[in-house]
Amino acid sequence: MNYRHLGLTGIRVSELSLGSWVTFNEQVDVDAAVEMMATAYDAGVNFFDNAENYAWGKSEEIMGAALKRLNWRRGSYLVSTKFYWGLHRGVNERNTLNRKRLIEGVNGSLARLQLDYVDLIYCHRADKTTPIEETVWAMHNIIEWGKAMYWGTSEWSADEIVEALRIAEKHHLHKPVTEQPEYNLLARKRFEKEYARIFRDHGYGATIWSPLASGMLTGKYLKGIPKGSRASLREYTWLQKQMKDKERLAKVRALQSVAKSVGCALSQLSIAWCLKNPNVSTVILGASRIEQLRENLKAAAYVSKLTPKVMGQIEGIFGMKKEEDD
Ligand code: NDP
Repeated sequence: MNYRHLGLTGIRVSELSLGSWVTFNEQVDVDAAVEMMATAYDAGVNFFDNAENYAWGKSEEIMGAALKRLNWRRGSYLVSTKFYWGLHRGVNERNTLNRKRLIEGVNGSLARLQLDYVDLIYCHRADKTTPIEETVWAMHNIIEWGKAMYWGTSEWSADEIVEALRIAEKHHLHKPVTEQPEYNLLARKRFEKEYARIFRDHGYGATIWSPLASGMLTGKYLKGIPKGSRASLREYTWLQKQMKDKERLAKVRALQSVAKSVGCALSQLSIAWCLKNPNVSTVILGASRIEQLRENLKAAAYVSKLTPKVMGQIEGIFGMKKEEDD
C-alpha cells in the first residue's frame, strides 16, 4: 500500500480507503464490517470514512462496534465523519453547518463511534445560509477541544473553499485541509476544472468518493439492474436512471476491451485510473461484499500498467466533450 499526504498536512492516508455509505447497516452488519475492515487494514488501509447521516447514525454505530471488536491501536488508523443533513427535522438541525448543530453533531458521532476523537470532520455540503465564518470558528473550536484532528469540505464550490481558507488564515484558525468530491471516469469536470486552482494554489487534499460511480464502472449494469445491486435497493432506485443511460453504458462497454488488454477487471481499471491523478489523496472504496473489496484492493497494482497509450485509449472513451471543457 502506498500512502499519500492529505493535502499539506503531516498526516498520510493510504491511497485506498474504505467507506460505509449505503453498505453499512443496509448490506453490511457488524460481523461483515469486522471482516471487511480487517481485510482492508491488513492490506494497509488506514482510513475509514463515515458520516452522521449514513443510515441515520446506524453506520457509525456499526463502525464503532466493529472498531471495538478489532481493538486496533488508535494511532494506527483514521476515522472520519461528516455533518450537514442532520438526524432530526428541527429548524436548526438539518441542512446546516451552524455552530450549535456542528458541536452537538460531533458529540453524537463520538458516542456512536465509541471514540474519544475522530481524525477528520467534513462539512458534508456547503450551507448557503450560515456565514462561512461561523462554520470555520466552530470547526476550529472542535479541533482545539481535541474532538477532531482535521477538517475538510465535501462538494463545496472552489470559491467557498477559498473563502473558508481566507477566513481561517485571517484569524489564525485551523484551516480546512481537504475536499471530499465525487471523482470517477464518468464524473470529472468539477475535480479537473473547478478544483484545479485549489489543488495548485492551496495544496488542498482530495479524498474522492464513488470511484466506480456506485458500481456502474464494474460493468454490472450492462445487462440491466441486477437483483441485490445498489440500484435495486428500495431507497436507491433513483440511481436507476443513470444505470440505464445508453451513452454511459456504451462507454463502460468500450472500456471492457481496455481492461482486457491491461489484464484486470473493469473495477480495478477504473480505480487505478483515479489513483493515477496526483491530486487524489485517497480513493474511498465502497463494497457490499468482501469479494468486491478484495478485488478492488488489488487495483493499485495496475497503476503502472496505465501507460500513456492506455491512458490515451481511456481518454478516447471518457474524454470530456469540448462544450464541457469551458
Ligand atoms: P463506488 O462507486 O465504488 O460504489 C461501491 C458499490 O459498487 C458497492 O457498494 C457495490 O454495490 C458495487 N461494487 C463495488 N465493487 C464492486 C465489484 N468489484 N464488483 C461488483 N460490484 C462492486 O463507491 P461508493 O459510492 O460506495 O462511495 C465510496 C465511499 O465514498 C462511500 O462509502 C462514502 O464513504 C463516500 N461517499 C461520500 C459522499 C459524499 O458526499 N462525501 C457521497 C458518496 C460516497 P452493490 O454490490 O450494492 O451493487
